Amino acid sequence: MVKSPMQLEAERRAICEACRAMHAAELVVNTSGNISVRAGNLVAITPNGIPYESMQPGDVCLIDLDTGNEIENGLRPSSELPLHLAVYRSTDAGAIVHTHSLYATTLSTLVDELPAIHYQIADLGGPIRVMPYATFGSDALAASTAAGLADRRGVLMKNHGSTTIGPDLKRALTRAILLEWLCHVFYLARAGGSPSVLDAEEIGRVAANQARNAEQRERRLADRARKGS
Ligand code: 13P
Ligand code: ZN
Repeated sequence: MVKSPMQLEAERRAICEACRAMHAAELVVNTSGNISVRAGNLVAITPNGIPYESMQPGDVCLIDLDTGNEIENGLRPSSELPLHLAVYRSTDAGAIVHTHSLYATTLSTLVDELPAIHYQIADLGGPIRVMPYATFGSDALAASTAAGLADRRGVLMKNHGSTTIGPDLKRALTRAILLEWLCHVFYLARAGGSPSVLDAEEIGRVAANQARNAEQRERRLADRARKGS
């Protein structure tokens, strides 16, 4: 019998690889955290509580974004499915990474905002909101996390962790690593005194430079690929 091709196989494989990278970068412990990718009106999302080292593409769940209905694969989707769907419905995200990384979680219990203590926060859109606590998996947590991402690519969730978004999985994961590093820097800076903060004008300048660099990088990479060098 001919086996039917797997739906969104490349996206589901990329999610498994990103889970292992997220684990290797020490952003999660055990099976905490979850990852999703949007492809049209379908969302591929990690299953609930499956160890990252053994996760296979067929384990990754598929959900219809319009209806919220599952395309059954025998596993339960992540308990944070409402959060992922709410964020896709309210942003232009192509991928979402949610973690319980150490310093992001620590800071979420201490402050109401992560200020602009380093210029790289511009990639996340500026100072990061810490949104009020709500039970994991709840619609309240989904709504507040989505609200916290307005004009931002990262958010902290009080007494819980962080969520980052990107146009693709690579950028969402890079931003999760960046947000964790920024939280670590802020934690250390606060332990040593009163950190100085960059103003909105400077963050705007940095964001413009970052966008220009990214555009030039893409253009040069495309030129190089076309020339085959
Ligand atoms: P899942 O294993 O259901 O994705 O839950 C992990 C988590 O981070 C809950 O907030
Ligand atoms: Zn969580």
